[in-house]
Amino acid sequence: MKPLQLDGSSGGGQMLRTALSLAMITGQPFRMTAIRGKRSRPGLMRQHLTCVKAACEISGGTADGAEIGSTELVFRAGKVKAGDYQFAIGTAGSTGLLFQTLLPALWQAAGPSTLKLEGGTHNPLAPPFDFLDRVFLPALKKAGVEASITLHTAGFAPAGGGVVECRIEPCPKLLPLDLVTRSEAVATRIRVLTRQLPLSLAGRMLDAAVEIMPTRDAAIENCEPGPGLGLCCLVETDFGAQRELTSSFGEQGVAAERVGQRAAKAMSDFIGSGAAVGRCLADQLLLPMALAGQGRILTMSPDAHVPTNIAVIEKFLPVKFQIRDGERGTKWIEVA
Ligand code: ATP
Repeated sequence: MKPLQLDGSSGGGQMLRTALSLAMITGQPFRMTAIRGKRSRPGLMRQHLTCVKAACEISGGTADGAEIGSTELVFRAGKVKAGDYQFAIGTAGSTGLLFQTLLPALWQAAGPSTLKLEGGTHNPLAPPFDFLDRVFLPALKKAGVEASITLHTAGFAPAGGGVVECRIEPCPKLLPLDLVTRSEAVATRIRVLTRQLPLSLAGRMLDAAVEIMPTRDAAIENCEPGPGLGLCCLVETDFGAQRELTSSFGEQGVAAERVGQRAAKAMSDFIGSGAAVGRCLADQLLLPMALAGQGRILTMSPDAHVPTNIAVIEKFLPVKFQIRDGERGTKWIEVA
C-alpha cells in the first residue's frame, strides 16, 4: 500500500504519535516529513523514537528514518499482537505519551495486554500519571475502553527512572462520547509531590495553590526513594460524574508560589469557563471520538494541538470534525 503523505511541520510529537496509532489500527502506512518542524530541536527525540520502536514491536511493523534527530519517517505496521511488553525510554521522556500511542492499537487487539514503561511519569508539557489515572482513562471508560495504569516509581525530568504498569482489555468497537455538560464541583484535592527538595518549598507551593482553590484536602507527598529532584503541584476537582486535574512543575528561577498558583489558576479557569472537558483532555479525546465514528465535547478554547491532531486523523479515517463557538469562549467539537 502507498504511504499517506503527512506534513508534521505544523505541530509537535502528537502528530507523529497519532499517525503511529492510526497506522497500527488501519494498516495504512505513512510518510511524515518535517517532524516537529518548528520546535527548537526538530525531529525525533528519545521519547518519540521509543514510540516508533514500540509501535514496530507491538505491530510487527517497520520504520525507515527511526533515528534521533530524524525529521522524516516511513512507518508500516503489521498486525498488532496483544501481549506483555516492556519499553524503557532511557531518558525522562514521558511514559504517559508512550502509553497513549500504544493504547488504541492494543485495545483493538484480540486479547488483553500489559505494558511496563520506564521513563518520566511527571513531566511538564505531557499528561502526568495522575491525569491518565484520574481523568483520561475514566473518560475513555465512557467510550467502553477498559484500561488501568499503576504507578510504581515516580520519574521526574531530567532524571527519569519512573515506572508505570498498564493493563489494556480488548475493545473492538468504541461508543460515541457525549461530554457537553458538567455538574458543580463536589470536592478539590491538592497534592504537591516532592523528591529530595526542601519541604519548605513544597509548603509554599501548596499554600499558594490552596489560596486560589480553597480545600482542606491538601497535602505534600514525598516521592523518595528515586533518582533526581522533583516538585510538582496537582489540583484535582471532582464534579460527580467526572474529574479534571491540572498540574504545574517546579522550574529553576520560578518562585514556588508561582508554580502552585499556575495549577490552581488553571483549575479555577476551567471551572469558570463552564466547559465539560479541559483543554488537554480535549485533544486527547479526538482520536477515540473519531474511532467511534461520532461524538461531541464542549471544551475550553483549544490550543494548537486540536487542529493539528484533527488534520492527521482526517487523513486516516473517513470522518469530519466541526468546531463551533460556545458561550464564554468555549468550543463545541463534533465528529461525524
Ligand atoms: P513537542 O511539542 O516538543 O513535540 P511532545 O512530543 O511532548 O512535544 P505535543 O505534540 O506537544 O508533544 O503533545 C503533548 C500532549 O501532552 C498533548 O496531548 C497535551 O494535551 C498533553 N499535555 C500537555 N500538558 C498536559 C497536562 N498538564 N496535563 C495533561 N495533558 C497534558
